[in-house]
Parts: sequence; C-alpha cells; structure tokens
Amino acid sequence: MNQTNDFIDQEYLDDLIKSNKKPSKNEVIEVLKKGEEKKGLSVEDVFVLLQNDDPELTEEMFSLALKIKKEIYGNRLVIFAPLYVTNVCANVCDYCGFRADNKELNRRTLSIDELKEEVKILEEEGHKRILMVYGEHPKFKVDWIKETILTAYSVKSGNGEIRRINVNSAPMDTEDFKILKSSGIGTYQCFQETYHRKTYEKVHLKGKKRDYIYRLYALHRAQEAGIDDVAMGVLFGLYDYRFEVMALIQHAMQLEKVFGVGPHTISFPRIEPALGAPLSKHPPFQVKDKDFKKIVSILRIAVPYTGLILTTREKADFRRELFQLGVSQISAGSRTYPGAYHDAKTNKPDMQQFTIGDTRSLDEVIFDIASHGYIPSFCTSCYRSGRTGSHFMSEAKGGHIHTFCQPNAILTFIEYLQDYASLQTREVGFKFVEKEIEKMEETILKKNFIQKVNETKEGKRDLYF
Ligand code: SAM
Ligand code: SF4
Repeated sequence: MNQTNDFIDQEYLDDLIKSNKKPSKNEVIEVLKKGEEKKGLSVEDVFVLLQNDDPELTEEMFSLALKIKKEIYGNRLVIFAPLYVTNVCANVCDYCGFRADNKELNRRTLSIDELKEEVKILEEEGHKRILMVYGEHPKFKVDWIKETILTAYSVKSGNGEIRRINVNSAPMDTEDFKILKSSGIGTYQCFQETYHRKTYEKVHLKGKKRDYIYRLYALHRAQEAGIDDVAMGVLFGLYDYRFEVMALIQHAMQLEKVFGVGPHTISFPRIEPALGAPLSKHPPFQVKDKDFKKIVSILRIAVPYTGLILTTREKADFRRELFQLGVSQISAGSRTYPGAYHDAKTNKPDMQQFTIGDTRSLDEVIFDIASHGYIPSFCTSCYRSGRTGSHFMSEAKGGHIHTFCQPNAILTFIEYLQDYASLQTREVGFKFVEKEIEKMEETILKKNFIQKVNETKEGKRDLYF
C-alpha cells in the first residue's frame, strides 16, 4: 500500500480556518441534530461546531455530548496509570523534557528488576490497566520492548495483576509491530502531536521523529501487523486547535476507510511545562479552558464510539468538568518518570517528562469520582475475550457496552473496594454499588451478575462477561 501521501488536507483545512466563517444558528442546530443520530460528523460539520460562538448553542452542544456519553458509555470511567520505562531519547522535540539535548535531565532506563518493582507498586495500589511509555532511541529494539511488557504481565502481588498493557512508544515498521503484537498488548498509541506539516517540521528538530509521513502512517502499519486497537492524539498548543481537531477526524476517517475501523481511543493532551523545553512554558497556540471544553465535546459528538482519554496533565477540578463532556477513560495516581512509583512522595523534577496537574492518589480519585456518581472501571474483558478492532466497534454500535461493560465495571470496582480501598472509599463505594445494582433491569443476565458479585465478595477474582 502506498504510504507516502499526506491524507491530511493541509491547504483545505488552513483555508477553512482563514475564512473564519461564522455559522448561522440554523447551521449549528442542523449539525447538532445530525450528531444526535450517533453516526459521527464530517469535517465540515466539525468546522461549524468549532466556529460557533453562540453561548446558548454551546451549552446545547455540551448537553448533547453528555447525552451521547451517557447513552453509549453509561456512567463509567475506565481507569489506568502510565508506567515510564525509560526517559532516554535520541529525538529533539521542542516541547518535551526528554529531548536528547536536555542536559538538565537525569536519564534512566529501568532494569528488569526495577520494572518489576514499579509494577508491584501499581498492583498494590489497585491498578489493572497500565500504559507503558518509552523514549525513542536506536538502542531500544522491539525485542527489548517485548521483554519489558512480558515482564510487567508476569508480576503478581497478592490479588494484584496487570490485565491489560497499552503501549506508547515510537512508531516502528510493520515487522516490528508484529513482534510488539506478540507480546499481548491491548492498544498501540501514537500521537501525531501536530497534523500541521509545517509546524511539525519546525518543532521536531532532530532525530527519526522528524519524518512526518512515517509517523502519520504509524497506525496503518500497526493495523497491518494485526494490532487492531490503535490510539491517536494531538498535543494541543503547537498549532491552531481547529486545524488539529479537523485533522484528527480526517485521520480517523482514513483508518476507517482502509481498515474498516477507526481509532479505539483519542487523547488530547495540552502542553505542560517541562524542564529544559522552553516552548512548553509558552506554547505558541495555548488552548484556553473554554476552548478545551469545546474540543472534548466536539470529539464526543464527531466520533461517538471512540474512547476519549483524559490524563492527569489537567487539574482535578477541571477534570471533573470534562467528565461531563464525554471523557470515557482517565489516568489516576500517575507519575511521569522511570522509577517514580518507587520514589513515592519524593518527586524528581529533573527526571520527569512534564508537570502533573492532578497529583492525587488513585484512592483519592476513586473516592472523588464515585462520590460524583461515576463507576470506576478496571475492566479488561473486551480485549481478553477477543472483542477488539472492528469486532469491538460493531458490538459497541449494537449496544453491547451496556450489557457487558456496566456489570464488568461493577465487578472490577468491587475487587478494588475489597482489596485496596481506604475505609472512606469503601463506605462510599459499596453504597454506590448497591444503588447501581438496584437500578439494573431484572433479566437473566442480572441473576448471573448477582452470582458473580457474591462470588467476588467472597474472594473470587477476575470474573467477567
Ligand atoms: N517517545 C514516544 C513518542 O514521542 O511518541 C512516546 C513517549 S512520549 C513520552 C508521549 C507523549 O507525551 C508524546 O507523544 C507527547 O504528545 C507528550 N508530551 C511530550 N511533551 C509534553 C509536554 N511538555 N506536555 C504534555 N505532553 C507532552
Ligand atoms: Fe523523545 Fe517522545 Fe519526548 Fe520526543 S516526545 S523527546 S520522541 S520522548
């Protein structure tokens, strides 16, 4: 397959932005009506929503995003933590603390024993899903990446185990992606950072990552290698956010066209201050909170069946607001350098990638979200039952998320409450669980589910649908 063509319509998107055309009320209403059908939106529809600045219609857009979120994902929030394996990197990305020319950064690559220690700590906090993160360097071969993943899966501590590992690493060729797949990963994640080619070339100063097209086709190669859950993202702040949101949609459509399935998730990090990366302190296109809310809600409406990931880069209060706009997965209790979980409370700014906005522990986050009516989910059932890629999407569209995900989320939440929660979280959590179970329709599935709930309370683990 020809992988040299830039399928992001650079000129067209820039022209749309330059036109700065404001939509009429009716145009916005029409797009919102279309959004209600949960079949996604075109680039032009997305532009209408991006350009709308009528406060009433913006509120309507927020309500629609929440409605879609509730209909598809219910009140669940999937929980994960990142695990940084190495901060060694040969690239010079202008915004990142790990950039090769950053002399102030203390470099470290975890040994296999150190990695096991980090995983053990995450398991003892209650995590079941992790995202393993790597800098890019020619010395990091895929066989080594595979070894680190297999090591992480092998660590068991009490009832603790990691059941799904997602990976954020530099893009590889298809043969290497096949090896990566054989390590049993869930999602492969790679952010384009900016889809605006000229900006991309300006902010990637040295190293393999300078090749815009090679990165643009990373998720194609992963798909070709059989990794059918792929994740995309933009680092907001490098270029006009309107361009980036429309380009994300073009990228998603391209994957759908070629492989019959769009991205499993989308991430939308904003640039955070990083040591030795001056650009990160003054991003050229800093995204304001009010625009960020627009971005999240537009993505929720435009790609309804794609998970939206919100990390601890954002502050706790703002994260709460964003949950209402369509976020479906969040990281919690995160640390952003290799060995950071071992360091516990002593943070090492000279090792980390960027500053974290939400520094609460996993238990504090769980207490908070459960108190606000969200079920934290540590579920990993879909990928272990083979519900991935287009299979996942077709089941999701058929509504399976409600039948499977809700009971699975509750079962994993009960595991958390029994094995890891503080007293106050346990109290709030169990009350909440009882209410959620009461709300469920009386079906055969519910009977089966109640049995699994009782078995979990008696100490059985890893029961799922
Ligand atoms: N090295 C690999 C790469 O560049 O794809 C993967 C790891 S990199 C640590 C993961 C992501 O962190 C990048 O894709 C980028 O979007 C994000 N990132 C880098 N610098 C950041 C900053 N200052 N603030 C927030 N996110 C940042
Ligand atoms: Fe290296 Fe990735 Fe940071 Fe770029 S973003 S400097 S490739 S770790």
